[in-house]
Amino acid sequence: MELVDLRSDTVTRPTDAMRHAMATAEMGDDVYGEDPTGNALEARVAALLGHEAGLFVPSGSLGNQLGVRLLVPAGGELLCDRLAHVVRAELGGHAVLGGVTTRTWAAPRGRLDPHEVIAMATPDAGPYLVSTRAIAVEDTHNFGGGTVQDLAAMQALRAWADGAGVALHLDGARLWNAHVATGVPLQAIGGLFDTASVCLSKGLGAPIGSVLVSSAERIAQARVWRKRYGAGMRQIGVLAAAGLHALDHHLARLADDHARARRLAVALGEVRPDVVDAATVETNIVVLDLAGGPTAPALAAAAREQGVLVSVLGAQVARLVTHLDVGDDGIDRAVDVLGGLLRDGLRHP
Ligand SMILES: *Cc1c(COP(=O)(O)O)cnc(C)c1O
Repeated sequence: MELVDLRSDTVTRPTDAMRHAMATAEMGDDVYGEDPTGNALEARVAALLGHEAGLFVPSGSLGNQLGVRLLVPAGGELLCDRLAHVVRAELGGHAVLGGVTTRTWAAPRGRLDPHEVIAMATPDAGPYLVSTRAIAVEDTHNFGGGTVQDLAAMQALRAWADGAGVALHLDGARLWNAHVATGVPLQAIGGLFDTASVCLSKGLGAPIGSVLVSSAERIAQARVWRKRYGAGMRQIGVLAAAGLHALDHHLARLADDHARARRLAVALGEVRPDVVDAATVETNIVVLDLAGGPTAPALAAAAREQGVLVSVLGAQVARLVTHLDVGDDGIDRAVDVLGGLLRDGLRHP
């Protein structure tokens, strides 16, 4: 039985065409700045996002780690929402390695409300309170369910941040999905932030890699920190070629993933309207609210027996993510299996 793996869009394997691009990539030693394919990828992503320079990093977590480090000195504060990947899924890296403290705001579905954020910021808190040095925004929002941030909200934050002396970091792991879902140019979003990290290894389907973008000066500092963290890589062209191939061939097709996520949500919502409201599905992520049962681990275990893999995000929260390696047949299977389990409880054969 072929598995339908909806745990994450990170599970994709390189296509034959991508493997060919990787196998034939021009390469050099990137620690010497001499990998032509890596340099091309960094320049291309920087330009796409409206920045001067880019830095290839092995993971989105390192992209965020370096981006935040450039903006927040040790002992300074980063504000983010309480479901943000930077505070929930990076294992305290910003605190452990960067000395960064965080405060969070509650954001339904991860959606940014600039007024709430501005009200809690303390940019110049004097000697008694922690000073806010940066704010992190996630677009699309992963644990929020693939939520696309409102451009006007991000613009309002930018307009305030300039005068307040607070920097902005974008966790754009799935910025590509936001762009494809709305048609808002990548530059229009990326250019609002001082640093931005984007993943090639999610919906774009590359096996490994993220790119951090910022000013040339900041990226030069980030290059030092990347090496210090032990992530100065050598012939990165083999990976960068996958990223370039993905930008050429896998960006527009994200619309297919969005349509499939929507179809999955509509079908499951018909079975159990309390579990998913398809109107909230904006991109490639469907979050199941299982307060009415079964528990998420029980659902995941039962679905796995029938060849459908889903992520458990909490006792009552499961997540389904569509991607390059799940086609229409896979969605049909997922609807059958998950729809059956949700309809009949876990007695389903
Ligand atoms: C996946 C993801 C990252 C980075 O994850 P890595 O596994 O470290 O590449 C960062 N932010 C968000 C919102 C993500 O979904």
